[in-house]
Amino acid sequence: MKRKGILLVISGFAGTGKGSLVSALTENYPNYALSVSATTRAPRPGEKEGVHYFFKSKEEFQKMIAAGELIEYAQYVENYYGTPKAYVEQQMEAGKDVILEIEIQGALKIKEKFPEALLLFVVPPDADTLEERLRKRNTESPEVIRKRLLRAVEESEYISRYDYLIVNDDLMACMEETHAIIQSEHFCTFRNGEFIETLQRDLKKFQLPAQQQAAK
Ligand code: 5GP
Repeated sequence: MKRKGILLVISGFAGTGKGSLVSALTENYPNYALSVSATTRAPRPGEKEGVHYFFKSKEEFQKMIAAGELIEYAQYVENYYGTPKAYVEQQMEAGKDVILEIEIQGALKIKEKFPEALLLFVVPPDADTLEERLRKRNTESPEVIRKRLLRAVEESEYISRYDYLIVNDDLMACMEETHAIIQSEHFCTFRNGEFIETLQRDLKKFQLPAQQQAAK
């Protein structure tokens, strides 16, 4: 049975650990391919071209849009972010489940364009844990933390537009649950139309009289 890749979209508030979840999935299971986005934002310390992002100027990004090279793109805090098409298509063709770790506007565009895409929203077990995780990172000022929490309030309005809720309490448990959800999705009847049609067609031979069945 030929397995077709699923287009996976993973979103979540800043501080929920969606980056760690994505890394855990790609490191522990061979069937995932992570899409690397293009962005106009400047690299952060330690970020590598082609690994974390493809860093582009605004003009380069606009050219990519005009050439139809992006599946989706969105503006987020004054910068553009977009998903290059070629990699996603190649990997899905090869049967990989392709992960897009993107924000909500982009996720909803993907669902419109590809209704069969699977949208996962990662949340903390509760609101206080989110605040605690943001503080523990020790990388952002109280003002930035407050902005992120306020953004989480807005983003929470969109959770029900996603297909599955992923609660990240313990990372490894969360990874296993997410993997199990994705594995089950592969068996959805609507994702297996071709297999079902072939089976239905082949079964029709049993409707023929016995002599014709033997001749087939
Ligand atoms: P950051 O600047 O912190 O790396 O990312 C900011 C936000 O942009 C995150 O929510 C991230 O998931 C999102 N993002 C990253 N790449 C893409 C993309 O290709 N398209 C969209 N729509 N959002 C993206």
